[in-house]
Amino acid sequence: MIKLIRPNKPTELTASEQKSLTDEFKSSGTSVWRKDYITKSLLDYSNNKCAYCECDITEESKYLEVEHFHHKDDYPDEVVVWDNLLPSCKKCNGTKGTHDTYKEPIINPCDDNPQDFLTLKNYRIKGKDDFGKLTISVLDLNNQDRHCKKRFEIGNAAQEKLEDFLHLIEEYESGASTSTRRKNRIINGVKDLLRLAQSDKTYSATTSSIILSSSDFDEIKAKLTNLNFWDSELTDLEEGCKKVKI
Ligand SMILES: [Zn+2]
Repeated sequence: MIKLIRPNKPTELTASEQKSLTDEFKSSGTSVWRKDYITKSLLDYSNNKCAYCECDITEESKYLEVEHFHHKDDYPDEVVVWDNLLPSCKKCNGTKGTHDTYKEPIINPCDDNPQDFLTLKNYRIKGKDDFGKLTISVLDLNNQDRHCKKRFEIGNAAQEKLEDFLHLIEEYESGASTSTRRKNRIINGVKDLLRLAQSDKTYSATTSSIILSSSDFDEIKAKLTNLNFWDSELTDLEEGCKKVKI
């Protein structure tokens, strides 16, 4: 989960439109929030990701749900209130169910910064306080099949790449291979890995947390700095990781 910046509400969602959709929901219970202008805006600001688990909700199997942070059955007046809507995958939406977020608040990634309340350890998310812990429990963020296995896959692949880069750099340092081709392979490879951890990519909180907590990454950065290979783009990419790591 990463901090999301909620844009202004879609212009189509005027006060009168909001009132008429709310009245329709209260009288008929229909899915009045299913409007293209609503889903498009939600997908735009989340980069097509679930606001909770960061999976790609445009993938056929994931299904975009318009998530009502405060549940629509208990708080029908908020059924199309823009600040109450989040993009979510079907699984997270279903797992959260009818949890009452007024009585027992959890992280809203548009209002709270998840990094303040969550951290990642051994592929499991840990709450830094009760607010974080309740969020993990309500959203089942340590579900083994859905989340922990995926984090292990991401972590294992990232760690493998970091070990490869470290090996290539050590060869470069020793003078065994100092071609421009080798140099570019190292720098571009590290950049590509860091690009996978930026906020617009799926599972960016996991990827960035794993990279930044790796001692291999620290070593790679120190060696590239020594060789004068660490450039401003790498600095920017590392900063991008820091913004989303938990
Ligand atoms: Zn999700």
